[in-house]
Amino acid sequence: MKQPVIIAEFAGIQVPTHSHVELYNSKELMVKAAQALGVCWGTAAITIFIPVIHLVVTPLALICGPFAAVFVYIKARKLPRLVDGSVTCNHCKAETKFHFVNASPPFYEQCQACRTGYEVLWPKLGEV
Ligand SMILES: [Zn+2]
Repeated sequence: MKQPVIIAEFAGIQVPTHSHVELYNSKELMVKAAQALGVCWGTAAITIFIPVIHLVVTPLALICGPFAAVFVYIKARKLPRLVDGSVTCNHCKAETKFHFVNASPPFYEQCQACRTGYEVLWPKLGEV
């Protein structure tokens, strides 16, 4: 897959970065989807023992489980597992590094030299 172009933004000024991006592979996506399903069905399993609440929450949680799994799968497919790179600070011109693992956008980081904050913009995949 083509590496997406990552842009850093310093107070409205966009600066290109040298970066490396890794996406989730299909196995990791399936694990995330299974976790979402597990949370929903786990909720259903717990609430089945609670009177009155089990009339509403248990069927809702059972129905929502597969939808949540599909939603998580689709959403995680467009998110990075790892974003690593460096950018030239727009304020002090020093080279500063950024590194995000298992994080979801927005990505905020500071220049290591002058503490100027910037955002690493994550492109919307599929629209690039
Ligand atoms: Zn700086």
